[in-house]
Amino acid sequence: MAKKFEKIINGYYIDPIIFTHKFVKACDVCICSGECCYYGVYTDKKEYEKIIDIKERIVRSMDDSQTKEAAKWFEAPEEDDDFESGVAYGTELHNGKCVFLDKQGFCTLQKVAVESGEFKWKYKPLYCILFPLIIWDGAITVDDEHLERMHYCNKPVNQVSTIYECCKSELEFLLGAEGMKELDSYRNEYLVQLKLGKQKSA
Ligand code: SF4
Ligand code: SF4
Repeated sequence: MAKKFEKIINGYYIDPIIFTHKFVKACDVCICSGECCYYGVYTDKKEYEKIIDIKERIVRSMDDSQTKEAAKWFEAPEEDDDFESGVAYGTELHNGKCVFLDKQGFCTLQKVAVESGEFKWKYKPLYCILFPLIIWDGAITVDDEHLERMHYCNKPVNQVSTIYECCKSELEFLLGAEGMKELDSYRNEYLVQLKLGKQKSA
């Protein structure tokens, strides 16, 4: 799939759908309750180890809707070449949501980092940071399959922006500042071409 995309930045193909795909202006868990976390996530082995290393801190930040038994946080490891280390661990569900989602809709892994003044995504799995973006077959694209399950951010009435506009920090996290500049230029070129294409066919 990825080979059909012409632009590569930092080793990732860029699917231009990210520039035009409609999305909410900003995530707001007070409205959506963090429903993208109701299904759990697959984490790389290294991410799993980083989380287990701070399990006591995580337990301290959990509420009564979450299980504090670390042995119940992850499924058995699976071989998976989509992950850097070749091994993935799925997070378990508890009370109908990822074990790390609290009752207010916040991710405890992000909460512990913020509480200690660390980088907010230090312990958060990459796929959680990126959603509704996803890395699929080497390309940065939209996780349509998961997005279709959402009741807030997938409703056209709430989609007043684009995924690109909403996810600039996430893209910069993945591509770096220089990569982001390159992405911006590519977006401008792409949108001009798109407009020209539309004018021709009008
Ligand atoms: S991606 Fe959607 S469901 Fe997830 S936090 Fe953002 S608005 Fe809520
Ligand atoms: S680890 Fe955090 S962000 Fe990822 S699915 Fe679980 S609660 Fe959501």
